[in-house]
Formats: sequence, C-alpha cells, structure tokens
Amino acid sequence: MDTKYIFVTGGVVSSLGKGIISSSLACLLKARGFRVTIQKFDPYINIDPGTLNPYEHGECYVTEDGHEADLDLGHYERFTNVRTSKANNVTTGRIYQSVIDKERRGDYLGKTVQIVPHITDEIKRRVKFLGKTGNYDFIITEIGGTVGDIESLPYLEAVRQLRWELGQNSLCVHLTYVPYIAAAKELKTKPTQHSVKALQEVGIQPDILVLRTEKEISQEMRRKIALFCNVAQDSVVQSKDVNSIYKVPLMMHAQHLDEIVLRKTATPFEGEPHMDRWLEFIDKMDKATETVTIGVVGKYVELQDAYKSISEALFHAATYACHKLNLIYIHSEKLDAENVGEKLSGLDGVVIAPGFGQRGIEGKFVALKWCRENDVPTFGICLGMQCMVIEFARDVLGLSEANSTEMNPHTPHKVIDLMEEQKTISDLGGTMRLGAYDCHLESGSKAAEAYGTTDIRERHRHRFEFNNEYRERFEQAGMKCVGINPATGLVEVVELPEKRWFVGTQYHPEYSSTVLEPSPIFRSFVNAAIACHDIKNKE
Ligand code: GLN
Repeated sequence: MDTKYIFVTGGVVSSLGKGIISSSLACLLKARGFRVTIQKFDPYINIDPGTLNPYEHGECYVTEDGHEADLDLGHYERFTNVRTSKANNVTTGRIYQSVIDKERRGDYLGKTVQIVPHITDEIKRRVKFLGKTGNYDFIITEIGGTVGDIESLPYLEAVRQLRWELGQNSLCVHLTYVPYIAAAKELKTKPTQHSVKALQEVGIQPDILVLRTEKEISQEMRRKIALFCNVAQDSVVQSKDVNSIYKVPLMMHAQHLDEIVLRKTATPFEGEPHMDRWLEFIDKMDKATETVTIGVVGKYVELQDAYKSISEALFHAATYACHKLNLIYIHSEKLDAENVGEKLSGLDGVVIAPGFGQRGIEGKFVALKWCRENDVPTFGICLGMQCMVIEFARDVLGLSEANSTEMNPHTPHKVIDLMEEQKTISDLGGTMRLGAYDCHLESGSKAAEAYGTTDIRERHRHRFEFNNEYRERFEQAGMKCVGINPATGLVEVVELPEKRWFVGTQYHPEYSSTVLEPSPIFRSFVNAAIACHDIKNKE
C-alpha cells in the first residue's frame, strides 16, 4: 500500500496533548498490524532541545541513535513500542541549517532563497523522508506549537501543499480545547470554531477534530461543531480527561478514531485492533490496591515534565508489580542533614535524578548517605550514579574533598572526571556521549539479575565518567563496578551488593521503558522497594 501521511495540529492553547493523541492513534494502528511511526516538527530555532533548560521544555529525550529530542518522542515509543531516531524530530533550526548549507554549497546558484518555496520544500522533504524508506504504512506528523503562531506558518504551508499533492493518502487531525465556563455551567465551542477558521485561512481543512474537554460533549454540540467547521459529524471526537494517559487509545477506539482514519485514507482493514496486552496493563493498573511510595530527589521538581521518562518508567514498573505508584518529588536544594530523616523516612525507594551542575548537589549527597545507612532501595541515574560514587568516596573512603570535575575542576580526588573524548570538545550542542552503547554486566550482580542477561544496550547522555584509577579502592571498600562498556572500559553500573538494592547506572534506562516492554532494571528497583515496604510494615 501507499504510505499514508497523517498530520496532527493543535489550536486554542498549548499543552492539549497532541503527543498523546498522535501516540494513541499510532498505538491503535499498530495493534491492527500496520507499520507506524510518529515524527515531531518543532517550530523553534534550536537545532535540538539538548541546549534547553528543562524548565523551558521539559525533559530532553534521547533516541537510540543518539539524538537529543523532544519529550513527545518518549510518548511515541512508550505507546507504540517502535524505536524513534534522529529523523523523527525536526526543528526549524535544522530546516534552516540544511537550506543555508545548500545555499553555501551553491545548490541554488542564481536563485533568491526564500521561505516559500525553499524552506517549505525542505519541510516537505523531511516529512516524507521516513515514508521513503518503505518501512512504514503510516507516518504521523505532529506539528508543534499552536495554529496562529507566526513560527508555525511555514509548516502549515508545507502541510497544505502535501495535502494537495497526496490526496487520499493524507489526512489532517486538529486538536482543540472546549472550555467549561463554571459560572454559566456551559461548554463553549467558539474557540474551536476560531481555531478551525485560522487553519482554513492558511488553506487547510481538517478532516477530523479531537476536542479536549473536562465534561461530556453532547451529540447536539458535536453536530453544531461539525456544521460550523465543515467536518463530518462522526469525525468530531472528544478527548475527555481520564485518570491515565494510557487509557486514551481505548477512549479513541471507542469513538472509532482508528476506523475513521482508515476509511478516510482508503485503507482496507477488517476486525478490531489486538489490544490484549495493553488491556491487561490497564486492568492491572485499575485493580491495584496496594501502593508503593517512591521519592525522586532532584532540582527540577517544580516542573514534573523534567523527569517524564523516569516517572513513566516507575509507573510501568509499579503497574507490572500490581501496585499503585505514589510518586513524591523531593527538592534536592531543600534537603539537609537535619530534615533528611523526616523527608525520606516514609519512602519505600529513592531515585537520585540525573542533572547538570552544582545546584542541588549537596542535597543529593545527604539523601544518599541517609539511604545507604538506612538500607533503603536506591537508584542513581546518570548524575545520580555519579553522586553515589562521590558520596561513597567522601564518607566511606575518607576522601572528604572527592568530587566530579564538573563541580570542581581542581578537586584533589577526581573520582568522576571528564571523558577523554570530551577533552577536545568546545561546542555544547549535541556533543555529549549520546545514544545506545553496549554494556557487559557481571553475572550475579543485582543489575544482571534484573535484566536476566549479562549483555545489554542502554542510552546515554553525559560528558563525565567514573575514574577507573579509583576502581580498586572502591571495590575493596564494597562499591562494585558491575557494568562495563566492553569497547572503552567505561564504568556503566555501580552497586553495593551488601545493601538491599543500591544501584547506580551511568546510562538512562528510563528512555527505553514502554507499556509493553517495561524497563527490567526499573522493575527490579520497584520490586525491591515493595519488598522493603513489606518488611518495614511487618516490623
Ligand atoms: N552532568 C553529568 C555528566 O555530564 C550527568 C549528566 C546526566 O545526568 N544526564 O556527565
């Protein structure tokens, strides 16, 4: 079959969940046996979100091929179980960069280079790039930003042209918001009408409308929206708030979103999507009665999107263990030796979060010392693992000034140091050690037990590493280096085998946890937290 292109735009306000709707549609199409991928086009000038502060744009996600990407790619993977790549996330910066590179090479010699057609042609080329591989039946393209924004215009012009060129092989889904005015006790459709008008003004007629709402939208109101927006009545779908994003595919299927898309793109289909394993997951989630309480110690706790993949991986793990997840964010800047007991004692397990820079680091050491001494299951991820190493050096090895050279370049004990390959790098964008690398785990270690194998591959995003000169001293004192990159000898996993569960990973296992394939190491950690909870409660 021809590759079908589905565009997802958003109107009225941002944060409506275009990523979740795109992911849910992809999930349903995949469950019907189609080959699907989702890509995100972001209208900002940064080449990638790697240089953005998490407060600006939430977590930076990393693909297996080492691209720093928008956090929506995390949703795409979690919902579809299909790996994304550099080609799945394009920004205005990347579009302009390639057009300007071509101009300098002389590819447009003699011509004036303009937004239309050069930028729009480059957008179209990128939209179709994954389709040309022949690996996909459906390419879902999420256009970042909100219709009406100045910076989205070239994307919308490209979508308009593609709709025209591709005909029935393409489709536009527009997501809007239907606010509930409490004082009038009424849902309001006007913002949706305006948003669709704004799309029509740039020459795009949406085929399907998805309406975000807190209250049920009546058939009568859907009929009105359909009439005013030139959309078939059965193609007006509501997306009511639900208690879990993982229920959205089911809610979309109940309103036949997948069938409408297949019909409108003239794709032959029969039967129903195979959602058995997905439904089992939802069933576990709904039936869970007991709770596991996990604390995440980090400095970006005001914005929970900053730790999106970690919170989702913990949720997957808790659900597979038939528990509800009670996730508590603990501000590392506010932790000190005085309040640590009070703040951490109710937790069954503690995650020490990834991050950069000095701010909040002392609180992470305080938390680690407390967890180590009280034998609470503890999981250090990336900077969290590095903090485990530093805290152990200071407190157990007696190297009171041990540090990472990221925090203090002049420390006498560089237990964490800049990687050799990083020493000649000066640009900050896209230059970390990124993407999936092999790791060999020592058999018998907690990590090997968790994965059920000794050879794994996980994703990275860092510049600093464990300093192997100290390895022997750490191992003698009880901190074992149980995961090693076979090509470079870099330490990827440390653990304290004497403790219930005290493991640090230089890599980020959270990026690869999906609903159908939860991260084994997160499952092992959460299971240890549950066991610890049960022991504490028996005492
Ligand atoms: N700042 C540390 C490094 O660059 C850790 C990075 C992270 O936690 N992602 O090595």
